[in-house]
Amino acid sequence: MELIKQFDDVTNSEGVYSQICNACVNALAVEKNKLDFNAAIGICGVKGCNNDAEHYINLEK
Ligand SMILES: [Zn+2]
Repeated sequence: MELIKQFDDVTNSEGVYSQICNACVNALAVEKNKLDFNAAIGICGVKGCNNDAEHYINLEK
């Protein structure tokens, strides 16, 4: 399973980023080194999830 395919909201401007909520971090078993713990703005980018995002996630790592 490629992690990036779980997202419907990916930014490709400066690197490949999206944002994610804590529930999805746990549900997808995201490695902590992909996360930027600064507060993210907006809605979780995972498909089907509409929670407020807590983290940015780097999808290139
Ligand atoms: Zn989520």
